[in-house]
Amino acid sequence: MKRIAILGSTGSIGTQTLDIISQYPDRFEVYALTANNNIRLLTEQARMFQPEIVCIANEQHYAELKANLSDMPVKVYAGADAIAQIVTLQPVDVVLASMVGYAGLKPTIEAIKAGKQIALANKETLVVAGELICRLSREHHSQILPVDSEHSAIFQCLSGEGDNPIEKLLLTASGGPFRNKTLDELKHVNAAQALKHPNWEMGAKITIDSASMMNKGFEVIEAKWLFGIEPEHIEVVVHPQSIVHSMVQFADGCIKAQLGMPDMRMPILYALTYPDRIATQLPRWNYAQCGQLTFEKPDAEKFRNLAFAYQAIRQGGNLPCIVNAANEVVVAGFLQDKIGFLQMSDIIETVMAKATFIQNPTYEDYVQTDDEARKLAASLF
Ligand code: MN
Repeated sequence: MKRIAILGSTGSIGTQTLDIISQYPDRFEVYALTANNNIRLLTEQARMFQPEIVCIANEQHYAELKANLSDMPVKVYAGADAIAQIVTLQPVDVVLASMVGYAGLKPTIEAIKAGKQIALANKETLVVAGELICRLSREHHSQILPVDSEHSAIFQCLSGEGDNPIEKLLLTASGGPFRNKTLDELKHVNAAQALKHPNWEMGAKITIDSASMMNKGFEVIEAKWLFGIEPEHIEVVVHPQSIVHSMVQFADGCIKAQLGMPDMRMPILYALTYPDRIATQLPRWNYAQCGQLTFEKPDAEKFRNLAFAYQAIRQGGNLPCIVNAANEVVVAGFLQDKIGFLQMSDIIETVMAKATFIQNPTYEDYVQTDDEARKLAASLF
């Protein structure tokens, strides 16, 4: 029986994880649920899964959540500090880190320091502070298992390969809803259009990142830290059908790929049962009904964010943290129709040039960098 703490239980990954867990009550137990604001759903989840602890990050909702659950033996907490403590508690076996954005960094660091196994869905944690996270995970023997579908695919391809030399990783990208739009058309697209992802059902932030290809840029950075592969050996391949979830090319020229339906419940389950595989009723990919699988190069002129991410990880230091902070601000601005789609990249580029660069940042430097870059980005619209 694995006892799981789910950070971000009301989000897309959180709800899909609970869906999986509900099907295997003899394997998994929900120990703690945390959410940012959604107390209605958090209350519902607490009633259904009977965790020991629930926690709401936004302290304004504490009294209401506590009242909602007053007839239950559950402990109710509030605030970011409480979340960072919950993940360290002795009964927790696995922490599913599926909070959105920078907010996931602190509790993930605390969980790693406590030696917990991490099922990592919050890629921003590795984007912002990959070097620190990897060092801590080695020091504290905390295993990080990828939930991101591409990284789960690469992880599965590497299983059983030991130290066999890798030539490159082929990271697949759907290309998002704007793959076929011209640069001119991209000037006029709005948030509602960007939120219609062709293949994956995801939260708003990652769906916008997916449309702007920032998500893929972040995944290059995530792959560097998870697998120790330098960015010049990581290639992004546009594969609109999202059936091949990623590939690994070895030094002998052989390529291994992992395929399946675009359904996040598969990589979530793999992270929770690794190294085992268990039987599921999840939808199967049917080659007879799928038509063609196609592959193409990404359009670097239309999707400048990809180049920013490569630049950030090559230069290193706090530059990826700067890009992440600027991106969180522009995505929020775009979702509120305050800035245009292409303007997001312009602002990120300016913030990258203006924010204070630090080659060897500490945790406190990341906190300061995040704050500075957010203010800079917000001042630009
Ligand atoms: Mn992904």
